[in-house]
Amino acid sequence: ASMREDRIEKTKTVCTYCGVGCTFDVWTKDHKVLKVEPQQDSPANGISTCVKGKFGWDYVNSEERLRKPLVREGDSFVEVEWDEALDYTAKRFADIKADKGPDALGFIASSKATNEESYTMQKLARQVFGTNNVDNCSRYCQSPATKGLFRTVGHGGDSGSIDDIADADMVITIGSNTAESHPVLASRIKRSQKLFGQKLYVFDLRKHEMGTRADRFFQPKSGTDLVWLSAVTKYIIDQGWEDRAFIDKWVNDFDAYQESLKKFTLDYAEELTGISKDELKQIAEQIANVGKLAICWAMGVTQHQLGSDTSTAISNLLLVTGNYMRNGTGAYPLRGHNNVQGCSDFGSMPNFFPGYEKVADDKVRKRYEDAWGVEIPAEPGKDNHEMIGAIHEGTLHSMYILGEDTGIVDANINYVTDAFEKLEFMVVQDLFLTETAKYADVILPAVPSLEKEGTFTNTERRIQRLYQALEPVGDSRPDWAIIMDLAARSGYEWGYNSPSDIMDESASLAPLFAGVSYDRLTDYNSLQWPVAADGTDSPLLFVDGFPFEDNKAKLYLLDYELMYETNDEYDLHVNNGRVLEHFHEGNMTYKSKAISSKMPSAFIEVSPELAKERGINEGAEVKLISESGEVTGSVHITDRVSGRELYLPLNDNGKTAVNYLTDNSVDKDTDTPAFKEIAVKMEVIKKK
Ligand code: SF4
Repeated sequence: ASMREDRIEKTKTVCTYCGVGCTFDVWTKDHKVLKVEPQQDSPANGISTCVKGKFGWDYVNSEERLRKPLVREGDSFVEVEWDEALDYTAKRFADIKADKGPDALGFIASSKATNEESYTMQKLARQVFGTNNVDNCSRYCQSPATKGLFRTVGHGGDSGSIDDIADADMVITIGSNTAESHPVLASRIKRSQKLFGQKLYVFDLRKHEMGTRADRFFQPKSGTDLVWLSAVTKYIIDQGWEDRAFIDKWVNDFDAYQESLKKFTLDYAEELTGISKDELKQIAEQIANVGKLAICWAMGVTQHQLGSDTSTAISNLLLVTGNYMRNGTGAYPLRGHNNVQGCSDFGSMPNFFPGYEKVADDKVRKRYEDAWGVEIPAEPGKDNHEMIGAIHEGTLHSMYILGEDTGIVDANINYVTDAFEKLEFMVVQDLFLTETAKYADVILPAVPSLEKEGTFTNTERRIQRLYQALEPVGDSRPDWAIIMDLAARSGYEWGYNSPSDIMDESASLAPLFAGVSYDRLTDYNSLQWPVAADGTDSPLLFVDGFPFEDNKAKLYLLDYELMYETNDEYDLHVNNGRVLEHFHEGNMTYKSKAISSKMPSAFIEVSPELAKERGINEGAEVKLISESGEVTGSVHITDRVSGRELYLPLNDNGKTAVNYLTDNSVDKDTDTPAFKEIAVKMEVIKKK
C-alpha cells in the first residue's frame, strides 16, 4: 500500500440516523470521513445502507460544532475551560437542590447518545441528585407502543428480528412511512414481496412509497386505527377464525375481551374509519388465513391521544390470531432514533430503572440503593411533558438536557420555550448551538458517535458496539465522561475508565442485560436482549410464554371515543413525518452539505383538490395557523395527500417547524404529545 493508503483507518461503527441500526466500517483519514463500507456480517443490513448512513457524516467537521464550554453572560455566551463550566454547574445544581429540594431538578437523556450515557444520566439524577425526574425523547414517539406491549405481552420491544419481518407471510404497516424512515428495513420487505409473494397491507393517511407498492393500501381517517383493528379482530372471532389452541394455552381474559368488542361492529367501523365493510371483511379473512403475520407501526399510530390504546389493539389482534412466539410473527414498533430503544432500556425513564424494573418496587430499589450507597425515592418522577408543566407551575427550576433539541421537537414550541425562560438554571449538552441551547446558562460541547465508544440498541433489541473513529474536535468530550465529571464534582466518584466499565455495572444490576459485556460485542458481534448471564441472547422475544406470573399474555380491554376533529374554522388536518434525506429536527443532516443540497428546506404538501379550491399553484406561499401558533412555507401539490389533509416534514428547524402548530394534548396513558392531531386554517400569502 502507498503512504497515502497507510493513513486510512477503518473503524466499525453503527449508523446514528434510524432504529434499523445498520453497521459498517467507516474509512477515515485526518478527521475526514472518506467512505462507508458495509460488511456482509452486519446483522441488520448486510451490505446495504441508505443515503443518510452513506453520506450523512460531514456534519462532524462542521464549522458550527461547539468546541469549548460556554457560559452565559447577559445575552451572550463566553468560552470557558471545562473546570470552570463544571464547577459552576455542580454548584448551581447543588444550590437549587438545597434550596428547593431534589425534585426541583429535571434531566433529559438523549436517544441519539449511547446506552452507557443513558445509564450515567439516570444514575446522575437518582444517585447524585436524589430525583427520579429523568426521561428521554421516546416520550415523543414510542412510549405508547411500549405501553401497549407491556399491557398485553409484558415486554416493550420488537417480538423478533428484521429477519422475522422479512420471513412473514404477511406484513401490515400502520402509520409508518417505512421507505423513508427505515429505508433498509423497507427494502427487506420489498424484496420478500418480490421473491416469495409476501403480502403487504399498508394503512396510512398519506400514499407514500410503501403505499404505492402495497398489495392493498387503506387510508383510514386520522386517529381511527384502533377502530378498524378492533372491528377486524371482532369479525375474526365472530367467524370462529381465532387461534383457539394458542389462546387456550397462552392468553388470559379472552371472554371479557370478546365482550368488550361488542361496540366494534362493521357498521360502526365503516362509519368512523371510512374503510368499507367489505374491505374490513377481506382484511379479516386475509389475516385469519395467513400463516405468519408481522405488524409494523410507527408514529402515525403512537402520536395520538389514543396512541397507547391503538398499540394495544395491534397486540390484541396478534394474540387472538396466534401471531406471537413463532419466527416470522409478532409486533414491531419501528424505533425512530438510533438509540431510542436503548435510552429507555438503560433507565432514563421516570418510573423505571435499567431493564424496565419499577422504581416503585422496594426490592429493586434496594438493589440500586445498596450498589450506589444512597436512598432513592420510591415515587416515580416527572416525564418530559410533566417537567415542562412543572416549570410553568413553579415547582421545577432547573434542567439538564442532553442531545435533545426540546425547544423544536416538543409539541407547542411557544409553550416550551416560555418554560425555558422561567428556569433558574439550564444546562444543554450538544454538538451545536441548538434552538434549545440558546436558552441555556451553560452549554457543554459533546461529541458525535464517530468520536466515542459505546453501544446502541436498534429496533430489534440488538445491542451493537461502536468504536471510536475520530478524535474529538476542539475541547469537546463524550457525554458519559462529562456526566461522570459532574458527578465527581458533586461528591460521587464513579471511576469508570471506559464505557465498558459502565456496561459491566449495568449488567451486574439489571437482569435483562445480565450477560452483556464488551467482549461479547466485539466487532460485528451483537446481542439481542434479554441476555442471560451465560451470554445466551434472544432473537425471538417470546419463546416459552410471556413474562407474567402464569406465563400467559393478557388481552387488554379497550374503548374508543373520537378525541379530535377539524372544525369550521380550523378546517384542515396536518399530518407530519420524516423525509428520506433528513433526520429528526435536522440539526445534523442540515449541516451535511451532501444531504442538504438534495433536500434544502421543508415544504407543505397540499392535495390537488384543495389547491384547486384555494386557487393556489405549485410553489405558492401559505401560512398555516393553529390555536397554538403559525408557520409559513411553500406549497408542493401532490396526490400523496388527499382532500383536506396536509403533510409537513418534521425535519425543519426554522420557520416551518411543525411544532409551532401542535398543542398540549397528549396520549392519555403516556403523555406522548398528539403531534398528529393538528387542526389548522390556511391563509394564502402568494398564489404564485
Ligand atoms: Fe442508517 Fe437507518 Fe439508513 Fe440504516 S436505514 S443507513 S440505520 S438511516
